[in-house]
Amino acid sequence: MPRASRIAVATTPAPADVRVGVLALQGDFAEHLVALRALGADAVEVRTLDQLRTVDGLVIPGGESTTIARLLIAFDLLEPLRDLIAGGLPVWGTCAGAILLAKRVTNLDRPPLAVMDITVERNAFGRQVDSFEADLDIAGIEGGPLCAVFIRAPIIRRAGRGVDVLASLEDGTIVAAREGRLLATSFHPELTDDRRMHGLFLQMVAEAKAASAAPRPRARR
Ligand code: GLN
Repeated sequence: MPRASRIAVATTPAPADVRVGVLALQGDFAEHLVALRALGADAVEVRTLDQLRTVDGLVIPGGESTTIARLLIAFDLLEPLRDLIAGGLPVWGTCAGAILLAKRVTNLDRPPLAVMDITVERNAFGRQVDSFEADLDIAGIEGGPLCAVFIRAPIIRRAGRGVDVLASLEDGTIVAAREGRLLATSFHPELTDDRRMHGLFLQMVAEAKAASAAPRPRARR
């Protein structure tokens, strides 16, 4: 029998009944939809509360974090999204999305969602090196390094105790982290053809859905 594929995460199809939303207020949501659908997921744009309530997981794309934050408030999504996350909704923030998830943002007055125990610095690579690519080994992703695209990217300055660091640059700068059902990446996996990061998130969503459907071991009184 052949050995298990080294890229099992990338090729695992999403369970047909897993629906993943992509917050489609601003930024590169279209590329995330393409990537998720390529993996077989039922991926939908999310702009309203009704749409948000139908999804098993949500991607917050890259773009401009201050703009997305303003639109979340304008579309009455900020508080409901925070409540859904508190209730266990899996969320993946890429770049601006990671900034929105962070509890602490060094150069933003009031972090909008403030749900993940990370400290993020916006535009941390400065003006001269706004964009670059790096080959990254990512915990939980098999099959060799992933080409990560950074565009005016934030970095994760500190990760709290319950946070797993998934990837760092050679100098130790954290660029991917996970805390329970929350995933944050500084870079843009939706801008390459490598779908492994989307596969990892789909796996998180499928696991969360399976866990919420499983019978409770003991009824609470
Ligand atoms: N610099 C942007 C911000 O602060 C993030 C850039 C991106 O998402 N590519 O929101």
